[in-house]
Amino acid sequence: MDAILVHYHEISLKGKNRPLFIERLVENLRSSVADLGVKRGVVLSGRLLIPLKDEIPWGKAKERLQKVFGVATFSPAFRTAPMMQALKKRVGEEVVKRSFQSFRITARRAEKTFPMTSDQINRDLGTFVKELTQTKVDLTNPELNIFVEVLPREIFFSFEKVQGPGGLPVGISGKVVLLLSGGIDSPVAAWRMMKRGCRVVFVHFHSHPYVSRTSQEKVCELVQLLNHYQHVSRLYLVPFGELQREVVLSVPAPSRVVVYRRLMMRIAARIARDEGAKALITGESLGQVASQTLDNLAVIEEASPLPVLRPLIGMDKEEIIEQARAIATFEISIVPDQDCCQLFIPKHPATRTMLPAIREAEEKLNIEELIEEGLKGVEVRELRR
Ligand code: ATP
Ligand code: MG
Repeated sequence: MDAILVHYHEISLKGKNRPLFIERLVENLRSSVADLGVKRGVVLSGRLLIPLKDEIPWGKAKERLQKVFGVATFSPAFRTAPMMQALKKRVGEEVVKRSFQSFRITARRAEKTFPMTSDQINRDLGTFVKELTQTKVDLTNPELNIFVEVLPREIFFSFEKVQGPGGLPVGISGKVVLLLSGGIDSPVAAWRMMKRGCRVVFVHFHSHPYVSRTSQEKVCELVQLLNHYQHVSRLYLVPFGELQREVVLSVPAPSRVVVYRRLMMRIAARIARDEGAKALITGESLGQVASQTLDNLAVIEEASPLPVLRPLIGMDKEEIIEQARAIATFEISIVPDQDCCQLFIPKHPATRTMLPAIREAEEKLNIEELIEEGLKGVEVRELRR
């Protein structure tokens, strides 16, 4: 194996964004496999080439690259000079090491000046491999698929094409602040925003010392798992118990959940401002719980000076769980904890709060002071993969 050849979807790349997209993807690829002794990738005729000096642990590299957003497919590839003879020689050396009964050649030319068409390459190389290995050609269900890519100065071939995760490279869409609880939904929301190219900064509200530290340990573990996709994350831990106690003293029980949420929005927005983040993200999904009716979502959102995005809004719980399993956050999310929201929570939260009533309730609180109090106790953690 001489290199890893990475393909990205070009459709999403228009004009000016293209160099930025590629630059970001190259950097994210580098950071995903840097510790495996891999060199920086280079751009080559609409592909990215990661040259390899020595044999690297392919299994590990594969696992990493499958989590780099923006990658459509990738292949462990061999390199030859751009001549049929050189290609045959090198392919010959490799195929005799493999055991198979049937094969096909799948050639593509990025360089149309190459003297043969893709079809001619398929036939010529196919005949060579067939005679050398005494196997047969099977175009529909081959045991070995030999992918050939003809570039201006070299030819690459490989025996494996791995599906990447698609999406956009993390960072290309800017930064967002995500409200991370220890539950199932918000980690999935984070993953979805990363997939659309966002760098996610995490904010968790906890009620320590009123409850144990389990929710903080949980969110750290969740962020570590999400670091498979963005490598380094910042997590803000905000003490919220004292604020909740103040809310309980003056806000009628049915309105409390919405008032808590509005406080969270305001504090998260302050953090977002300092971080240069452009939106707040939650794991809310329409109608899932009392605080997630259309009425309540609107009242909650009103407290935020930034757009509030809810990538899971139209998903069923089952769909969210399936996604949580796929990214391995599910097992951690279901560990019982003492979330701040179970503390001081009313039995019957209102499903239809009205903004004027909530504003009136908030007038009895010193909102600005509460925000400052929350921010004063903030603990920031930098977590690396
Ligand atoms: P999740 O599974 O993400 O906890 P949920 O179904 O339990 O969601 P809620 O508890 O109503 O729903 O929370 C809705 C959203 O509010 C969460 O997805 C998260 O974005 C945010 N949130 C709730 N609690 C916290 C918290 N303690 N810290 C940070 N964000 C929170
Ligand atoms: Mg929750």
